[in-house]
Amino acid sequence: MANMRFPQDIFYGIKDQRIIEVINSIPREDFLPESLRDYAYADTALPIGSGQTISQPSLVAYMTQLLELTGRERVLEIGTGSGYQTAILAGLVQEVYTVEIIPELHEEARQALDKMGIDNVRYKLGSGYEGWEEYAPFDGIMVTAAPPEIPQKLVEQLGDKGRMVVPVGDRNQTQILKLIVKSGDTIIEEDKSFVRFVPMVE
Ligand code: SAH
Repeated sequence: MANMRFPQDIFYGIKDQRIIEVINSIPREDFLPESLRDYAYADTALPIGSGQTISQPSLVAYMTQLLELTGRERVLEIGTGSGYQTAILAGLVQEVYTVEIIPELHEEARQALDKMGIDNVRYKLGSGYEGWEEYAPFDGIMVTAAPPEIPQKLVEQLGDKGRMVVPVGDRNQTQILKLIVKSGDTIIEEDKSFVRFVPMVE
């Protein structure tokens, strides 16, 4: 495959080739502080400033796959951070709505994606616990900070057959990555793996 930035083995278990292609098309170094750019293609989380981190690429791939995206979706992302995951989602769906609570990160992410010519993203500065009512319902919701419990407003903003991925658990402890699938009035919740994300602040 042309233009492989990452070694193929980090995509173990990823069956959706589009995800692998899109991740390999995005320069991860552009989302990192200068001093950490040498580590851009290591499969590890890295600090991005303001006490936050950019997720591990293999986990980004895995969480993205759980949303089962086909290209037509409108997806809500909570925790814009560096904008790295946002850029990947933008390459896979119709429109991304992303919410960040730290003004500097919100602004820097927007600038980074603008510079890359990514124009199917809407950015909001605010609390992810509120979701983004104006544009609900969403076909998918990806939460990249860990709330202590599943945020009910987000579940409400999920459309029929919508899928949500969220790491749930206490601050500074191992969290459980949960998949929530809405089907009519039924909400199915599945535990997928253990993860460690920064807390989703109140
Ligand atoms: N997906 C990001 C990583 C995000 S780290 C990336 O690819 O770089 C988690 C982010 O969630 C941080 O930027 C943090 O500021 C943000 N965050 C934490 N609590 C939040 C909240 N209540 N609402 C919105 N964003 C929040």
